[in-house]
Amino acid sequence: MQINIERIKENLLKVGEIGRVEGGGITRLAYSKEFEEAAKELIDLMKKANLEVTGDGVQNIFGKRSGDNNNYPSIMIGSHLDTVPNGGIFDGALGVIAALEVINVLNEKNIRTRHPIEIVAFNAEEGSAIGGTFGSRVVVGLQDPYEDGLIEKLDQYGMNINDVKKSVRNTAGIKVFLELHVEQGANLYEKGIPIGIPTGIFGITRYGIVAKGEANHAGTTPMRLRKDPLIGAAKLIIEINRIVKEIGEPLVATIGVIKAYPGTVNVIPGTVEFIVELRDIDNQRIEEAVNKFKNSAHSIGGDIGFDFNLLINKPPTMLNKEVIEVIKNACLSKKIAHQITVSGAGHDAKSLAEKVPTGMIFVPSKDGKSHCPEEWTDWESIKTGVEVLLDTIIKLDSVELY
Ligand SMILES: [Zn+2]
Repeated sequence: MQINIERIKENLLKVGEIGRVEGGGITRLAYSKEFEEAAKELIDLMKKANLEVTGDGVQNIFGKRSGDNNNYPSIMIGSHLDTVPNGGIFDGALGVIAALEVINVLNEKNIRTRHPIEIVAFNAEEGSAIGGTFGSRVVVGLQDPYEDGLIEKLDQYGMNINDVKKSVRNTAGIKVFLELHVEQGANLYEKGIPIGIPTGIFGITRYGIVAKGEANHAGTTPMRLRKDPLIGAAKLIIEINRIVKEIGEPLVATIGVIKAYPGTVNVIPGTVEFIVELRDIDNQRIEEAVNKFKNSAHSIGGDIGFDFNLLINKPPTMLNKEVIEVIKNACLSKKIAHQITVSGAGHDAKSLAEKVPTGMIFVPSKDGKSHCPEEWTDWESIKTGVEVLLDTIIKLDSVELY
């Protein structure tokens, strides 16, 4: 079936370019006027594709194409329309425009589907005051409307609890969710493989680690008498790096925050705090790593005491095996090179996967770059990605999923 890459290009540039900062990237934050402008443009394109357009209380946008039986649950396709500050044109917007292209091709070829097909453009996927994947979490009912402090956050964006409540959908009305997205890593690009099929999305675990020693005078305390927690923390950080490499990919660990107290040039710190973030597709591997960190902390020990405090433990999300199989078969039948992979980044698909069968299709990110103006995916790869998406939808229209 003929995907029109020129149309994809035109539509993506029309919507995805909105929010371009002069000489820089795209800043189209959730609930900004740039987002609103892009939403308007998208709604226009959706209407031209004869979709029935609706919005919800948190400014997610839906466009529905009827099926032969509108009592059947929808096949939902899409991604998010917001960006990070100074981001690229592909992250999010590509998945929405890819979904629109699927509709346009089905319309052109007069192909009816049994199930209705719904395009979705989620709002507030990127982290903001309101939390990441906000729009999709609301839709599937994962956002607690009574969460502490939510009222104030919603108020910043001119919304209230009722807007959240009325946006929750009955997920029985969604048969399957598919999201085409840029990989945001160098894996596919380096190997020259056009399609990645993730089996799951990384879980995230964060520990706050406190190293305690003894603050003292930086001039009068000889080296042999110091109980410097920063030295202990440094040793532990080296160990963390070694342990994570030893356990092996896809496990990653990052220490992006470290603070020494009192934080003065002429005082040996008394306390050092840092946060280690671990991501993997398998929670057990994360636990194994943390246990090893604790053992290392114990043996580094000496005069330095280490405390580990669990801050966040978001388990990994597995995508639907049958959907993965359908995507894989779509690649095989067209002899398209593909790789089974995992997603290191969070996505709206993670929210949807909690409630409905969900699959993702990755296309390569040039040099693995994303969340920056250099973000790029070749049009040829995009065309291949949309072909796989279209084939997958047609196949899913006639299979039962469990
Ligand atoms: Zn994204």
